[in-house]
Amino acid sequence: MATLGVPQNTIEILKKHNIKFQKKFGQNFLIDTYVLEKIVSAAGITEDDFVLEIGPGIGTMTQYLCENAREVMAVEIDKSLIPVLSETLSSYNNVTVINKDILKTDINKIAQDYNDGKPLKVVANLPYYITTPIIMGLFEGHVPLGSITVMVQKEVAQRMQAVPGTKDYGALSLAVQYYSDAVIVANVPANCFIPRPNVGSAVIHLECHKEPPVVADNEKLMWRVIHASFNQRRKTLQNGLANDSGLGISKDMAAEALKQMGLAETVRGETLGLGQFAELSNILGRIKLQ
Ligand code: SAM
Repeated sequence: MATLGVPQNTIEILKKHNIKFQKKFGQNFLIDTYVLEKIVSAAGITEDDFVLEIGPGIGTMTQYLCENAREVMAVEIDKSLIPVLSETLSSYNNVTVINKDILKTDINKIAQDYNDGKPLKVVANLPYYITTPIIMGLFEGHVPLGSITVMVQKEVAQRMQAVPGTKDYGALSLAVQYYSDAVIVANVPANCFIPRPNVGSAVIHLECHKEPPVVADNEKLMWRVIHASFNQRRKTLQNGLANDSGLGISKDMAAEALKQMGLAETVRGETLGLGQFAELSNILGRIKLQ
């Protein structure tokens, strides 16, 4: 089967199968061999790896993954692309295609059944309308993960990598830091896709931590504190925490925690690093118990 990274081969397949791009599924297919090679090399795929691809489309990146990995599992929501994938991947015997919504797929079971529960690598040109739920689902579902190498909207890649005190910094930046080390590998212009997306794109590589870099006594409380801190970005951290009715923290309790950390009462959440959020939630947890 001809390499689909070459634009004329992709166009031929699109015509042959009369494929209509499904905007609702975020379909923008890659047509740039340089970008495809860059993604596979950033993912560091070797013949020992089991790779999960989210949204194979017509199989363009899947072909590269099959060439490099031991085994590939590709999960595609669009039923009409399944016969196309049978054709474009017919020369590979190390790939399984599943017609499913990734958000409703038990990835832990896939890791168990196909990789003995060992860490898998995720590689994808993600559908942009569900980037955050997919990434957070992988992290919070405690899927055994080696790394995640994905094409995302450029702004989302910047938010993932953002540091305290910048406008892009928020709960997503903290989640990515808690679970991985993030590096933007490439910025990708719209003309590398068919059809062209109307946003810029970037490839980001997340190398997953074996252990989180900070210790939170109560992980759930730490994330609640983080979300409350960023829900009202213009407010002080103290007010943000007190205004979150579900958190059960009064303004006095928040003030006491900030005092114990040596932080000013006027401090804003966006200036705190991950370690400080872990410490803050640990102190608040103790104050709540008093
Ligand atoms: N990997 C292909 C490529 O690079 O050319 C296609 C990438 S395209 C940006 C995103 C793909 O994800 C589409 O094939 C789309 O149908 C699929 N998709 C969208 N939502 C999905 C979901 N919830 N679960 C699985 N696949 C999904």
